Amino acid sequence: MLSQKYLFLNYLAQTSPSPLLLEIKKAKGLYLYSEQRKKYIDLISGIGVSNIGHRHPKVIKAIKQQLKKHLHLMVYGELIQSPQVALAKKLITYLPEPLSSIYFVNSGSEAVEGALKLAKRYTGKTQLVSCTNAYHGSTHGALSVTGNENLKRAFRPLLPETYTIDFGNREHLNRITSSTAALIIEPVQAEAGVRLTNTPYFQALRKKCNEVNALLIIDEIQTGFGRTGAFWGFEHYSIIPDIVVCAKAMGGGMPLGAFISSRKIMSSLTHNPTLGHITTFGGHPVSCAASLAALDVLIKEKLIEHVVEKENCFHDLLKHPLIKSIRSKGLLFAIEFDSAELVKKIIERGLYYNLLTDWFLFCDYAIRLAPPLTITLKEISIVCKKLIQTMDDVLNEMK
Ligand code: PMP
Repeated sequence: MLSQKYLFLNYLAQTSPSPLLLEIKKAKGLYLYSEQRKKYIDLISGIGVSNIGHRHPKVIKAIKQQLKKHLHLMVYGELIQSPQVALAKKLITYLPEPLSSIYFVNSGSEAVEGALKLAKRYTGKTQLVSCTNAYHGSTHGALSVTGNENLKRAFRPLLPETYTIDFGNREHLNRITSSTAALIIEPVQAEAGVRLTNTPYFQALRKKCNEVNALLIIDEIQTGFGRTGAFWGFEHYSIIPDIVVCAKAMGGGMPLGAFISSRKIMSSLTHNPTLGHITTFGGHPVSCAASLAALDVLIKEKLIEHVVEKENCFHDLLKHPLIKSIRSKGLLFAIEFDSAELVKKIIERGLYYNLLTDWFLFCDYAIRLAPPLTITLKEISIVCKKLIQTMDDVLNEMK
């Protein structure tokens, strides 16, 4: 019989020369269980997805209940589907005014596509500004505003009139002009290796967008739903965006995304042309039911309230001569080392201690830690001991 590994490598499109190749049979909470009965600790949450852990019982229950009612009915926006309505009603209670109009999509990239189109349609302008080392997705529009030439080069020409500014650089804000339709930015640059800036920068940026009538799009795809210690990352800077894009943790493990704006801005998608954005599966009823349950768990279990305490616990316990620095915002960490080779060794050795970690798209000399927000202080202590043991092993090997 052909092995799963053989079938995977031969019949699934490959995008990396060295996939992890773990065969995961089951997942629950913080843990992934392999075919070989090994229990891995998930320290990356499926890249920012499993904020409430894997297969939370309340999410599973909501999915089962929806399965008894209906699956897909009709392309987005025509029929009244109660899971979409209930989710939208709940979600807007966690958003500031005037962000009260939600367009559900399937993924982060699609949310970015929708947001960029909305900004162009509403402002009547075409220029888009984004940040160096930002990651906004892999489709043509989202890739156009992604700030890494290495990822883009082979796919040019991309969208015209896209310009970059350096994240956190106040002087570069002058590049946002009256020709700019939108600036898209992450509250914390995740794939750049958890790069942070400050409130005055975000406030200056908000002011600049107002001055030139450019829309401010905040990409909360990785930072939303509590990851940084606030429901949304933008809350740290006391600003209100014009458009928010989200996905990943939103679906509680199911595929779901959204771009969110005011009713005024969003209404421009209803005319010239009508159906200004179309998606068949966006806001799938099963995904929306799962999302509503996940949101309920996030709030009722007070997961966001404990994020900073858990962040501090990692900082207290994670000390090792190989670590150059630790950057974090909430439970999103970049542990920086001297080289990409070292990072590779630590990730590989970590698997021996059942730790599933990863690097970043635009920062290969740092390890990503972004565990489910449900991780306990006791589990953090176990994880840190295992990480230190991992680094000790790698250090000894180097001697
Ligand atoms: N924006 C950010 C900040 C992301 O982290 C990602 C995914 N890593 C995306 C957009 C794209 O999301 P998706 O992979 O769901 O298309």
